[in-house]
Amino acid sequence: MVDLQQQYQQIKPEIDNGIQEVVDSCAFINGPAVKSFQTDLESYLGVRHVIPCANGTDALQVSMMALGLNPGDEVITTSFTFIATAEVIALLNLTPVLVDVDQDTFNIDPEAIRRAITPKTKAIVPVHLFGQSAPMEEILEIASQHNLYVIEDNCQAIGSDYIYTSGLRKKAGSIGNVGCTSFFPSKNLGCYGDGGAIFTNDDELAKQLRIIVNHGMTIRYYHDLVGVNSRLDSIQAAVLRVKLKHLDEYAAKRRAAADYYDHAFAGQPGLKIPYRYPKSTHVFHQYTLITSNIDRKELIEFMASREIPVMIYYPVPLHLQKAYLDPRYKEGDFPVTEALSEQVISLPMHTELDEEQLAHITSSLLEFINR
Ligand SMILES: *Cc1c(COP(=O)(O)O)cnc(C)c1O
Repeated sequence: MVDLQQQYQQIKPEIDNGIQEVVDSCAFINGPAVKSFQTDLESYLGVRHVIPCANGTDALQVSMMALGLNPGDEVITTSFTFIATAEVIALLNLTPVLVDVDQDTFNIDPEAIRRAITPKTKAIVPVHLFGQSAPMEEILEIASQHNLYVIEDNCQAIGSDYIYTSGLRKKAGSIGNVGCTSFFPSKNLGCYGDGGAIFTNDDELAKQLRIIVNHGMTIRYYHDLVGVNSRLDSIQAAVLRVKLKHLDEYAAKRRAAADYYDHAFAGQPGLKIPYRYPKSTHVFHQYTLITSNIDRKELIEFMASREIPVMIYYPVPLHLQKAYLDPRYKEGDFPVTEALSEQVISLPMHTELDEEQLAHITSSLLEFINR
């Protein structure tokens, strides 16, 4: 699905240098590379504060802790996402309230958010799924009407622009009270291990976030809050500094591959190409088709016989996951999510797809469809 080896070869001297510098300095934790990356990312995103942390899941958890959410508070999020989004809500003894998604964008449906609000609702967690921003203006409006926090799960859309009705552009993740991202190797901005970051424009909140990621410590060995240990290490920061410089070029390469796929599949019976939401640029974390009347298992086997991986993101909606079964929800409650989980397929999507590979992937899939 991704080709990190080829990508590394393109930037090897810069990456090797960056890593070597950290090793030479032995400043493995909170070294200068972490501070530099933090500043670089702040200016790239146009946010006042970036708080690096250990992974995207921690970014979400620490955000909810810093906002002072308490057990029993309801947090609204989407039923069609990676489990981490709901996992941290459950871990903090908050109540995840799931809502359905829009069938074109795969992102949280603002009307469904409105219907899910109760007096206990404290926050909304939109996920910018597969590389496109959720409908942020609608979400911000709902949040301000009901006095709710907005925590953006931007693990899949770093670099994407949300485009306001006025034409104003802001980076996905920089719009709500707080934004969270992951630098897991296969993400659009991936390091060579685990990593994550939290973004905010709120000075007070930034202070809390920095304290919580560092054991709740204000002055060394004085712990004012219950915190966690969540750090981005210096080697990962060195890798990320290099890759951040290439992020826009990487997004352009992903878009070019998506354009190729779109062109090949447009109008094909049984395949619906990804909808391009006009209020967001698309950074194609995934290229996801909606199939109809196609046996996905056969399709995946056929593609595997051509050495082409095809994945299903995500095969089981959150409310039907064993660990998250809840008497509040049953099969049929989120029809769009449930249909998508039975119909979607994702094709290889990365920065190193060349014409020959794209031709092989598209012709193989078309051959399967038109058998
Ligand atoms: C990857 C991902 C996460 C978690 O990130 P990790 O760094 O793996 O902890 C959370 N939410 C979404 C939508 C993701 O894709």
